[in-house]
Amino acid sequence: MGMIGFYAGSFDPFTNGHLAIVKKTVKCFDKVIIGIGKNSGKKARIDKNKMKKAIEETLKTEKIENAEVIIYNGLTAKVAKEMGAEILIRGLRNGTDYQYEETIAEINDEYSKFDTCYFRAGNLGYLSSSMVMELYNAGESVEKFVPKAVATVLENLRKKE
Ligand code: ADP
Repeated sequence: MGMIGFYAGSFDPFTNGHLAIVKKTVKCFDKVIIGIGKNSGKKARIDKNKMKKAIEETLKTEKIENAEVIIYNGLTAKVAKEMGAEILIRGLRNGTDYQYEETIAEINDEYSKFDTCYFRAGNLGYLSSSMVMELYNAGESVEKFVPKAVATVLENLRKKE
C-alpha cells in the first residue's frame, strides 16, 4: 500500500497555504489523508462537510490523485493509525508554529510512537485561516487566498447571512 501521511488540521477554511503543503506532500508519500479535525482551542466557523467537498473538488482541479479527505473526531494519532498512516504531516510558517507544533509532535511520539514530518510554508507563510476569515467578515474578497471551490463555499455562506 506504500507510505501514508496524515495531514491533520482545522482547515476552517482550507487556504492556498494548506494546498501548497498538500502539493508538496503528495510527491513524498504514496498517499496523503487530509483529516479535518477539531482544534479544542478554536471554534469551528464553516460546515465541515462543505469544506470536505470543497477540498475534494480542489484536489480534482489540481489533478492530485493520491490524496483523500476525511472528517474525524478524537485523537489525531489514533485516527491516523486506524487509517493506516505511518507519519503525521504539519506545515510550518514561522518560529511560533514550530514551538506550538513541537509540543503536539512530542506528545504524539510519546503517546503512540507517531513521528511528525514538517513541510515549509515558504512564500505563503503569511496566510492563515483566521486572516482569511477576518477579511471575509469585513466584507472583503478572499479569492486570492483560497482555492476556488473554497471561495464558493464562503460566498454561499455570505448569501445566507
Ligand atoms: P490547526 O488548528 O490544527 O493548527 P490549521 O488548519 O490552522 O489547523 O493548520 C493546519 C496545519 O497547516 C498546521 O500545521 C499549520 O501550521 C499549517 N498551516 C496553516 N497555514 C499554513 C500556510 N499558510 N502555509 C503552510 N502551512 C500552514
